[in-house]
Amino acid sequence: MKIFAVANQKGGVGKTSVAVNLSATLAHYGQRALLIDLDPQGNATTGSGIDKNGVAKTLYGVLLGEYSVVEARVRAPGRYDVLPANRELAGAEIEMINIDHREFRLKEALATVVEDYDFVVIDCPPALNMLTVNALTAADSVIIPMQCEYYALEGLSDLVGTLRKVKANLNPKIEIEALVRTMYDPRSSLTHQVSDEIKNHFGNKVFDTVIPRNIRIAEAPSYGKPVILYDPTSKGAVAHMAFARELLGRQGIEIKESVNAEDNVEAVA
Ligand code: ADP
Ligand code: MG
Repeated sequence: MKIFAVANQKGGVGKTSVAVNLSATLAHYGQRALLIDLDPQGNATTGSGIDKNGVAKTLYGVLLGEYSVVEARVRAPGRYDVLPANRELAGAEIEMINIDHREFRLKEALATVVEDYDFVVIDCPPALNMLTVNALTAADSVIIPMQCEYYALEGLSDLVGTLRKVKANLNPKIEIEALVRTMYDPRSSLTHQVSDEIKNHFGNKVFDTVIPRNIRIAEAPSYGKPVILYDPTSKGAVAHMAFARELLGRQGIEIKESVNAEDNVEAVA
């Protein structure tokens, strides 16, 4: 079981979109995936087609030790499991203050399901708080979605600093898995300028696959669907499938895409 934390303390950069669509595309490629909604906004839960206020058990109770991951997980229509969240989770940070090993709550909870999944994807909140520290402590690596805009790199230095501290004190194995450029607009010269800068800093951690700005990706959550279910032939869906294949390829798992889907990739390129 490999655990990815999807993190960037900036809001609106595409974390939830990447987390939901990665979970769905991993499932599409036959991987057993668990998506953890670590944001009290519950967007990953809703975007997966689960009613965040209708679920009896959420990640909140798991973090506080009230029940197990197995009791709280819900199967999403996209054939991956979700550990749901809602507003309740906002209280967890304060309630965890008096708990021993509070940085390790998520790691300990996930230890009970190592046999159940190939991949766990954690959708982090837009903050470097105790919830995010729990994700970084539990994770093998971090996927950083980012938009190619002027202050993007500056914003990353806080995240990189937090990663360094977590690596030194809580989780020596944590590393950066991927920087993924989201809402990518190839017509903007700023996009190329920032892209070059990111590559200079992070080298081959910057994935070749970019996620384009695509209206279907933005529409899909309001239908409670990952984009590959909402509109499988859209540029957004094709890009997310390519992203999952690149990620799996880097883990040594080669996916032979069907002829039709491969045609789509060619058409976009
Ligand atoms: P975060 O979780 O980092 O706050 P979201 O994934 O919620 O970011 O994305 C912010 C907004 O942008 C959402 O409304 C989402 O639907 C939209 N969005 C995300 N990725 C794309 C994309 N590639 N193209 C168009 N809209 C996108
Ligand atoms: Mg989000």
